[in-house]
Amino acid sequence: AEGDVGGHVGRRQEGLTGLSGADTICALSSAPGPAGVAVIRLSGPACDAVCRGLARDLPEPRRAALRTLRDRDGAAIDRGLVLRFPGPGSFTGEDVLELHVHGGRAIVEDLLAALGGFEGLRMAEPGEFTRRAFVNGRMDLTEAEGVADLIAAETTAQRRAALDQAGGALSGLYDGWRTRLLRHLAHLEAWLDFPDEELPDDVMAGVLEDVAALAGEIVAHLADARRGERLRRGLQVAIVGPPNAGKSTLLNILAERDVAIVSETPGTTRDVLEVHLDLGGWPVTLIDTAGLRETEDAVEREGVRRAAERMAAADVVLALHPADGAAGFSMPSHETAAVLIEAVSKADRLAPDAGADGRLRLSAATGQGLPELLERLTGLAAELMASGGGAAPTRARHRAGLADCRSALERAVEGGPGRPPELIAEDLRLAMRALGRITGAVDVEDLLDVIFRDFCIGK
Ligand code: GDP
Repeated sequence: AEGDVGGHVGRRQEGLTGLSGADTICALSSAPGPAGVAVIRLSGPACDAVCRGLARDLPEPRRAALRTLRDRDGAAIDRGLVLRFPGPGSFTGEDVLELHVHGGRAIVEDLLAALGGFEGLRMAEPGEFTRRAFVNGRMDLTEAEGVADLIAAETTAQRRAALDQAGGALSGLYDGWRTRLLRHLAHLEAWLDFPDEELPDDVMAGVLEDVAALAGEIVAHLADARRGERLRRGLQVAIVGPPNAGKSTLLNILAERDVAIVSETPGTTRDVLEVHLDLGGWPVTLIDTAGLRETEDAVEREGVRRAAERMAAADVVLALHPADGAAGFSMPSHETAAVLIEAVSKADRLAPDAGADGRLRLSAATGQGLPELLERLTGLAAELMASGGGAAPTRARHRAGLADCRSALERAVEGGPGRPPELIAEDLRLAMRALGRITGAVDVEDLLDVIFRDFCIGK
């Protein structure tokens, strides 16, 4: 039903290339089977020819039609649904064809092979459907990123945020700001066109007042960026402690699946392993760091380096102090703004009357303390990721653009109304451009490869 994702008024991006017009792309858009259904999607001018060739028919647009799909020699490949979405009202803005067939490997393979026989058809690059949707003005860049996030969403909170962004929550905000600046700019330029007339002071003061207000709104919006980015990648919880503290055992228990190697030999957890948890809808990533200590082993040293790096970037550090020794281990003194949770691991080895210095007592063996730990992590996740209302920036790219915009606006205001209007106009232009690069409204050709690289094939 991609063709129904209408509502975006065609806003064709001027001056963008990358839409050849000649190429028709195809890809398996559903996950590789075996599965009940597989969806193969095509976009481009050859869709109708392909439909006629495979189904010997051109069914009515946007209506599912059950047809036998045949290869060049007329032999049946499968029976399935054929769906046509003629451009420009389709997901990509071009003619789109969807083939819903049984999700067997041989069916998909033979169908793709049959497609290979059509003129002008090739396999799609990752994200190429969405990229075409952007280039054809069907969505802006933040919406395209929202689509990618929606597909990657692992928890309810991530899904909600991604759906908002894909639906234009950030675009609406940034377009609104751009329009506001454009109006001021038009005002100034109208005066600049008539150099004989003096620009009344109160007009300039009014412009600058609103520009200052906008800078304030951007500062507030930027304050939400960490939260947005955190929600997108999950709360990062680094488990640290000496070798044999029980880090990987704890991770395994919490993940309820075998991801980390558990062993008696110190230093066998060589890499940074992570598991993704869904705690009450919040995404939480637990990172099992390699034993943080000096070592001769090059591979392990690399593991330690990466562990320190992850710890420095973590939102929460869970420090394990094993009950059975490893005296002398002290937390590495890395600069970190993370929330620290101190715990005694292997608490089952603790003498019944032993104190834990107010630390959380954890035992992977008995399960002691695990509910409390999860409860604390869930609480922290909610605290650090819950929305204060409104969409938040979700990528470093957004944050950088907003910061550029804000600097330009502050420059515009700083000199006061007495500053030459040409200079103020130039600052407003730069601020608009910074916003335009976030949404893709201005020339962003150089960004596209980076942005769409992370998409999956078939989207
Ligand atoms: P890591 O090096 O910190 O990842 O430690 P491991 O998870 O590999 O655990 C080291 C050893 O401690 C293993 O033999 C585990 O079976 C043992 N161990 C881990 N957690 C517990 C626990 O809660 N209680 C007890 N008694 N032993 C544990």
